[in-house]
Amino acid sequence: MKSKGGEPERWVMSICPYCGVGCGVEVGVRDGRIMKVKGMRGNPANLGELCHLGMALKDMPEKERLLYPMIRKDGVLRRASFKEAIDTVAERLMETISMYGPDSVAMYISASEYIEEYYVYNKFMKGCIGTNNIDSSARLCWASGVMGIVGAFGQDSPPCTYGDIELADMFFITGYNMVVSKPVLSRRIARTKRKNRATIVVVDPRRTPTARMADIHLRIRPGTDILLHNGLARVMMDEGLIDEDEARGLVHNYDEFRAHIEKVDMDGVAMTTGLDVEEIERTARAIARAERVLFLWGQGLNQSTTGTGKVSTLLNIAFVTGNIGRPGCGPLAVTGQTDAMGLREVGALPHLLPGFRKVTDEEHRKEVASIWGIAPERISKSRGKTFPAILEAIDKGEIRALWIIHSNPLSTFPDTGWIKRVLEGIDFLVVQDCYHPTETTSLAHVLLPGSQWLEKEGCMTNSTRGLNLVEKALPPPGDARPDLEIVMAVARRMGYTGEFWYRNTEDIFEEYKTLTRGRPNDITGVSYRRLRKERSLQWPIPDPAHRGTERRFTDRRFPEGRLFLGIHGHTPPRESPDSDYPLLLITGVIPFHFHSGTRTGRMKLSLPVREPFVQIHPVDAVRYGVTDGEYVEVASRRGTLRLRAVVTEDVMEGTVFIPYHFGYLTGWNKAVNMLTIRAYDDVSAQPEFKACAVRIRGC
Ligand code: SF4
Repeated sequence: MKSKGGEPERWVMSICPYCGVGCGVEVGVRDGRIMKVKGMRGNPANLGELCHLGMALKDMPEKERLLYPMIRKDGVLRRASFKEAIDTVAERLMETISMYGPDSVAMYISASEYIEEYYVYNKFMKGCIGTNNIDSSARLCWASGVMGIVGAFGQDSPPCTYGDIELADMFFITGYNMVVSKPVLSRRIARTKRKNRATIVVVDPRRTPTARMADIHLRIRPGTDILLHNGLARVMMDEGLIDEDEARGLVHNYDEFRAHIEKVDMDGVAMTTGLDVEEIERTARAIARAERVLFLWGQGLNQSTTGTGKVSTLLNIAFVTGNIGRPGCGPLAVTGQTDAMGLREVGALPHLLPGFRKVTDEEHRKEVASIWGIAPERISKSRGKTFPAILEAIDKGEIRALWIIHSNPLSTFPDTGWIKRVLEGIDFLVVQDCYHPTETTSLAHVLLPGSQWLEKEGCMTNSTRGLNLVEKALPPPGDARPDLEIVMAVARRMGYTGEFWYRNTEDIFEEYKTLTRGRPNDITGVSYRRLRKERSLQWPIPDPAHRGTERRFTDRRFPEGRLFLGIHGHTPPRESPDSDYPLLLITGVIPFHFHSGTRTGRMKLSLPVREPFVQIHPVDAVRYGVTDGEYVEVASRRGTLRLRAVVTEDVMEGTVFIPYHFGYLTGWNKAVNMLTIRAYDDVSAQPEFKACAVRIRGC
């Protein structure tokens, strides 16, 4: 797929397969190669711009591309034919199901796949095998955000649109280094700041490039966001900055919220968050006086044992200040991966069915079964397991077979040493990916060569409900195949031929579409043909004449009548610094890398930073005898790393920062998730990556 000189012979329309902004991309191809990539003009996500990752799409790596199936024999992965690999997977799954039942099988997928793929995987697991054990890498990035939104709105319907950025006069950005992780959006925000004189508030313990854009930077202690949100509400309440009549009309539980917030002690908030009361008061007044505030958050909120509470209390601030249902305001929730929204609407999660239906709802199971042409009893009425629960179940011997598609949990989930021991003990591990080796492919019993981006066709939904068609432009290399063809081949080999009758991807889309009729994500007015013509359409789009829904809830009629305010108090992180491990570790993103680096780690793009580092505050550097540039030992209760130290005031005293893009194939003592803690949000099951106790010393 590498570009060579010359002009393209044709252009195909696509969207960038990296982050959840879902920028529109035009790709020039010739002779099965990408010649040029440019931002799609007029696409509402990016208005023709791309960031460094999008621009580098023309150089998708060929290095270590997985070109044929492999089967482990005598402990070694050896080349196999497709037939042999499909037979092996089908036979081992059937054997496992017959011995231990359907719930002994699980699937873990990426949130960067296509809607049609999610639909096929979901139908295979829930409608054929009869287990709801299917989860995705969205668990790592947006689970808490979704639970916060569902709790507040009663529905998973992100209300805003990207065009709200240009209309806002304030941006409240929290736990979100979006200059690095969402560059196209942060540039739009910077332009709006200049043009509209918009104010930017950034809440972050670190002085990130995003924090440098801010008019007000609240350097909060890690894990204390709920206190800050409640403190902001307390100031607004005390100073009469909330229109209480409007708030009562907008939410169900304003008086309960009021009673909760009246108990907030501002001196306690200041002491725990590390902020001055005056800073909080100044920020509360600025939010309350702004006309249109957009609230944007990232993993600093979501990746926490209290992630759902953090998101929920942030949304409280939006609601009590009336920042909802109008252009230019509200929560603009942008996911980490391109199609995390598509994944949710198709229901490829342990508790959902297509169209946001629930596996626990009998009517919903019947509706889905009638379209799938199966008996409703084939769909289990029990919620399936999240990936953290899948790992625990493998450890206990309850799950015996796992199929991982385009994901590398051995790099991305916390406490890698433990996960490695667990996955080494499983009876049967199938991994489907485009590259090998990754930390996860290296453990597979069977490796299946999947396809990426332009090598297959399908739809993706961006973070503001915008449905896009990604057209196939290139043949998959070697024996690699479109991923849903691989899964359907296994399913048919297991006897599920009638369920997978489709002639092409569009047939799958059309079947899925019928399951969205009357649902929040109704896309019955869309076809591939229409998407080719109109590019990006925001659901709901209930009929062919409907032009799509730019913003939701502009009439302030919400799924449950009114909204819900979250009632949450502060709970400290599961692991706090102590005398043995006196520093708090935060993990996060750096430029030129994306997630576990399966693709970007093989690209020239990431050459400037090929190994991780640890940032430490100058005061801590003196305290622990660390010099800038030297290698130091960083240890938690779970592992020890050896990393180059960067002494900087960009981190707060008492905290250290390590980027998370490096797995243990970079080096046994380089992968930050060897240190992180197996602690999860009780509601969302999202892991904690922003707070674990470590110690550091020169070596
Ligand atoms: S902002 Fe995200 S979607 Fe847009 S080009 Fe960059 S990585 Fe791709």
